[in-house]
Amino acid sequence: MLVSAPETPSLFDPIPVLNSPPVVPASAPNLPPAGKLWLPKRVLFTPDALQEEFGQQIYARVQDHGLPVEVLKANRLTGLRGADARETYRNAKNTLAVVNAPAGALRLQPTPPSADWQMNLAEGCPAHCQYCYLAGSLQGPPVVKVFANLPRLLQNTAQYEQPGRVTSFEVSCYTDVLGIEHLTGSLAECIRYFGPRQGAHLRFVTKYQHVEQLLNLPHQGRTRARVSLNAEPVARRMEGGTAPVAARIQALRQLALPREQGGGGYPVGVVLAPIMPIPEWRAHYTQLLDQLAAALDFPCDLTVEFITHRFTPGSRDVLQEWYPNHALDFDESTRAVKRNKFGGLKYVYRPDDMRTLKEFFYAEWQRRFPHAPVLYWT
Ligand code: SF4
Repeated sequence: MLVSAPETPSLFDPIPVLNSPPVVPASAPNLPPAGKLWLPKRVLFTPDALQEEFGQQIYARVQDHGLPVEVLKANRLTGLRGADARETYRNAKNTLAVVNAPAGALRLQPTPPSADWQMNLAEGCPAHCQYCYLAGSLQGPPVVKVFANLPRLLQNTAQYEQPGRVTSFEVSCYTDVLGIEHLTGSLAECIRYFGPRQGAHLRFVTKYQHVEQLLNLPHQGRTRARVSLNAEPVARRMEGGTAPVAARIQALRQLALPREQGGGGYPVGVVLAPIMPIPEWRAHYTQLLDQLAAALDFPCDLTVEFITHRFTPGSRDVLQEWYPNHALDFDESTRAVKRNKFGGLKYVYRPDDMRTLKEFFYAEWQRRFPHAPVLYWT
């Protein structure tokens, strides 16, 4: 909740801050330990998914991890709801379903400002972020659904490429692609596909750390590997199940290091999100940027994206159900309303607060990384 918002804050006023969140991580029950591989309790395959060659590869990976597999009788996922919302959430976040993406997935949606198009290799995420971007945008229980017909989805992207320009495809809109990679191999499949495609570019982002499996892939500079970072109190209290920030920064370093130094030689990026004016936010974010600068102490192709916290009435309702003890600021009275062209609304920080934050982040970023462009602020 925002407190004591001044009427007309200036750059020199403290901008309103969130109340101190509870000390214990107030997210979902039975969180996996931070930084550990996600091992779901249930793995479901639809018959169609098991027919796919790529589905068979996922099946082998799942078995290698010692996980029991249930092959469903039909291609529909049913019976995933528990006795109440909490149980439904808990069960869903412990379930991996391997399915074929429906035909509608071949009609790609634009995804500005992150990329030209989104190409989803999965829907649903094993992490437990209290502000989760998926809340309210996915139907049904938040099961992790992975697409076994990925090679078909990848081939489909070719028709979206345009001569004379590089078309970008974002694979992280509806999942954390690295958080499930040990069970799917889907991200590696995408990186290999885009490697030789001169007119296309792949983008992904993660809050996980297990990048070793990506380092030797033939990306040919056509994948930008981004890591999502936040101030330490936000990550610790609100990003259940993800890797610690320090581990993510080391993962980014590994991805960016040249091949001859044992790294992946990827173009890399930082997604600083969601930015929140928590108590002493300047100190916390300064510490984060200092840590990052210390880890990226060599020339590399780096970009940054800044995303401030926002919510819609729908996402707030879902998140309050998923995380009843959350530490988020959902106080509409301290926010500005932003409408989209379809009349939907979201709550963002007020213009003066936004300006204060923006000036701080641009200045601090450019001071440390003068050659790393800011792609956008939102
Ligand atoms: Fe949601 Fe992203 Fe967190 Fe996954 S990593 S729970 S998709 S915000």
